[in-house]
Amino acid sequence: MQLDNLYQEVILDHYKRPQNKKLSSTYDAQVHHVNPSCGDEIDLNLTITDDTVSNISWDGVGCSISQASVSILTDLLTGKKIEEAYSIFDHFVALMQSKGTVAGDETVLEDAIALAGVSKYPARIKCALLGWMAFKDASVQAQSKSKLD
Ligand code: ZN
Repeated sequence: MQLDNLYQEVILDHYKRPQNKKLSSTYDAQVHHVNPSCGDEIDLNLTITDDTVSNISWDGVGCSISQASVSILTDLLTGKKIEEAYSIFDHFVALMQSKGTVAGDETVLEDAIALAGVSKYPARIKCALLGWMAFKDASVQAQSKSKLD
């Protein structure tokens, strides 16, 4: 897979020095997502406080794309209002599904723009999306739980 060198560096940096990779003992929702085609696994714990993503923590194993992508996600979405987090999520998913035809907006995606080139490699898109799907799943669970409280 050939990615732009600068982007490759951002991905490797998150892979080697992952952000928030230590599962928090308190959370509103806990999910486990697997990408069987690559063997990637991610556990993700999420806390939402006052409609804001207050904590995302995770643990996982797998390829550099999957692990870097979830590390980038935790940096990007922590502290965001949930509607804003969903808007960024939608932007990232659209980018991944674009087959390389969409450049993506760096002001929205920040470090996640480094994964743009992955959209040209269909076999790797699930790797990049794994942590994002885990986040979406956890956020739906966390919000339905808060409605019951
Ligand atoms: Zn993978």
